[in-house]
Amino acid sequence: MYYPEPIAKLIDAFTRLPGIGPKTASRLAFQVLRMKEEDVMDFAKALISVKRNLHYCSVCCNITDMDPCRVCQDKSRDASVICVVQEPKDLVAMERTKEFHGYYHVLHGAISPMEGIGPDEIYIAELLKRLSDDRVQELILATNPNIEGEATAMYLSRLVKPFGLKVTRIAHGLPVGGDLEYADEVTLTKALEGRRELN
Ligand SMILES: [Zn+2]
Repeated sequence: MYYPEPIAKLIDAFTRLPGIGPKTASRLAFQVLRMKEEDVMDFAKALISVKRNLHYCSVCCNITDMDPCRVCQDKSRDASVICVVQEPKDLVAMERTKEFHGYYHVLHGAISPMEGIGPDEIYIAELLKRLSDDRVQELILATNPNIEGEATAMYLSRLVKPFGLKVTRIAHGLPVGGDLEYADEVTLTKALEGRRELN
């Protein structure tokens, strides 16, 4: 209420982002005010572009500006393995290890009865469609090592049983309750190598 409306609006916009309180928001807003106009334009364009030019890959559901995405278009990858992750950032974390050469499937969340997120709210149906491809032999469940991630892994392992695939869960070198994206490359590589069979 003490600020002119344009800056108050910008502060308000920043506070809608996770982890940003009013103090940080006003610091960021004043930083924008100090930026060169062309830099602010680039920033604004990047914000709009992320909404307009990105969509979900029709195969793996990862976010992409081309369809199928770059990973799905890469024919040099191993089509016998699909690694299931919760979020696009988890896919990036797995790619950083350079140890996984199969394909991915991004669920965009995890089953969480507490938050009212059931199997239909995440991209499980899209995953099932891919399993009728005879080349697929192993499903690596790389959901987060917390309650929701475990519940999702258990649900999926039961659901895909009829397909007769090898279903593995990444090992718990990962901190329990943690997020895949914060694991370093070595921990994540070890978790991948130490994956155990679920069925
Ligand atoms: Zn894809």
